[in-house]
Amino acid sequence: MSAQILDGKAIAADVREQIKRHVDDRITGGQRRPGLIVILVGENPASQVYVRNKQHACQQVGFLSELMQLPADTSENELLEVIDSLNARDDVDGILVQLPLPPQINEDTVTERILPTKDVDGFHPYNIGRLVLRQPLLRPCTPKGVMTMLARTGIDLVGKDAVIIGQSNIVGRPMFLELLMARCTVTVCHSKTKDLAGKVRAADIVVAAVGVPRFVTADWIKPGAIVIDVGINRLQDGSLCGDVDTAAVSEVASWITPVPGGVGPMTVATLLENTLIAADLRDSRED
Ligand code: NAP
Repeated sequence: MSAQILDGKAIAADVREQIKRHVDDRITGGQRRPGLIVILVGENPASQVYVRNKQHACQQVGFLSELMQLPADTSENELLEVIDSLNARDDVDGILVQLPLPPQINEDTVTERILPTKDVDGFHPYNIGRLVLRQPLLRPCTPKGVMTMLARTGIDLVGKDAVIIGQSNIVGRPMFLELLMARCTVTVCHSKTKDLAGKVRAADIVVAAVGVPRFVTADWIKPGAIVIDVGINRLQDGSLCGDVDTAAVSEVASWITPVPGGVGPMTVATLLENTLIAADLRDSRED
């Protein structure tokens, strides 16, 4: 078997096209353009690339986007004051603080300071709580993007056995909630999991979010499984690879996401989706 490719770049382009049409309808209807502010503290090179991608995507769909670049020695209080001012701005629908933050700033404090209605990353405890209760509003971008990709396979997810490798707050845990909401039976694995290979071998859907290059090998994969590779790892030669041994796993799986060009572009497209949802929700509250 040779797996079909779940082409994140192409699906993300479709999502952006839909968003652009919706933005055009908003403008025609006399509503404002959705606005996203990205805050970057310090000069982490990987963060600079992510932020540039997000800004470019905003321009493609007709959002207002602004980058606030703060020095690496910004204090937590200074950042919180910036967030307060953005919370109060009527032209700002989404606020995204690019992680990681310098060590003097507590990420949880910052996440909780963003108004839940402007939390387009979906990391605020309010938005995570809504997802737990099956009443999602603004959902964490990477897992929601994965759900959009899974929908493109056309496969009914109900009753499928899913295994997630990784239990981080931004990927593994919300991925668990998304797959559970889709009525999969979900197992979340981590570094202390016993017989990881055996658990993965039983899965119809495997989501790898480990951060270890080519960690998931072909002998772990049940024939015909769907394999989603969230990992983004930079190798010594500068190239990128995921958490899955893509070439070998492709011989066993039914669907697989490439790296690059898989989950990464979907995360950015989903951020745009969330910003549009935030704008629509704010407008409907103000009506
Ligand atoms: P993270 O916070 O470092 O979490 C990694 C998870 O993997 C942890 O739960 C850890 O277990 C688990 N793990 C590590 N080694 C393991 C092992 N040997 N066996 C089983 N589990 C193991 O990472 P993250 O933020 O979730 O990111 C994971 C990967 O996804 C990274 O490559 C990151 O760059 C990428 N990523 C991509 C996107 C995207 O848009 N495509 C978005 C976010 C992240 P413990 O909890 O026990 O330590």
